[in-house]
Amino acid sequence: MPEQQQMDQSAQDVLPLSAEQQQKVVNKTRAYIEQASELFNLKDKAVEISFNLKGRCSGMYRIKYGKGRIFIRKQREIRYNPYIFSKYFEDNYTTTIPHEVAHYVTDIIYGLKNIKPHGREWKAVMHAFGADASVTANYDLSGIPLKKQSLFTYQCDCREHQLTSIRHNKIKKRRYQYYCNVCKQTLKFKNELNEAVT
Ligand SMILES: [Zn+2]
Ligand SMILES: [Zn+2]
Repeated sequence: MPEQQQMDQSAQDVLPLSAEQQQKVVNKTRAYIEQASELFNLKDKAVEISFNLKGRCSGMYRIKYGKGRIFIRKQREIRYNPYIFSKYFEDNYTTTIPHEVAHYVTDIIYGLKNIKPHGREWKAVMHAFGADASVTANYDLSGIPLKKQSLFTYQCDCREHQLTSIRHNKIKKRRYQYYCNVCKQTLKFKNELNEAVT
C-alpha cells in the first residue's frame, strides 16, 4: 500500500524538541509562573512540565487526581507536544507557553471547573503577560505523528493502565472486567476524574 508508506514516511519528517530546547521551554514556563506569582500574588503550587502530549494540540494543562496515602492527591501538569512545538518553535515559545501557564494561573485562582477555559479570567492573565490571547493556531500538521487511537486510563491498587477503546467499551457494557497482573485488583476507570484544558 504505497499511500500508507508515504504517510509513515512523512511522520518521520519532524523531529521532536531536543533536550536543549526542552530545557529552554521549561525555563520559560517557570519564568512565566514566577511572573504570575508576583502579578497576582499567588502562592504557586507544584506543577509538572512534560513533553508527552500527542495529537493536534500544542499544549495542555491538566489536573490528575492520584491516589495519595490518605487523601486524593492533585497533580498539576503542563504538557507540551514535542513535535508541534519543534515544527513551530518560535510561535509556540511566544504563545503556547503563556497560554498554558494562564490556564494554570486561573486554575489556582478560580478552579478550572468554575470558569470557561478561554473566558475573561484567562484572557486577563494573557493580557497581563502581554501575550496573544487568540486561541486557534492553524498549523499545518503534516509530518507530525498523530495519535493512532485514544487510550483510557484505568487504575488498580498499584499503577495506572492504558486500555484501548475496545476494552473500555466492553467494560462499560459490563461484559468484561480486567484485572491487574501484579496486584490482582479490578481496574477502575480513572479518566473521568481528571480535568484538562488545551
Ligand atoms: Zn495493580
Ligand atoms: Zn487553552
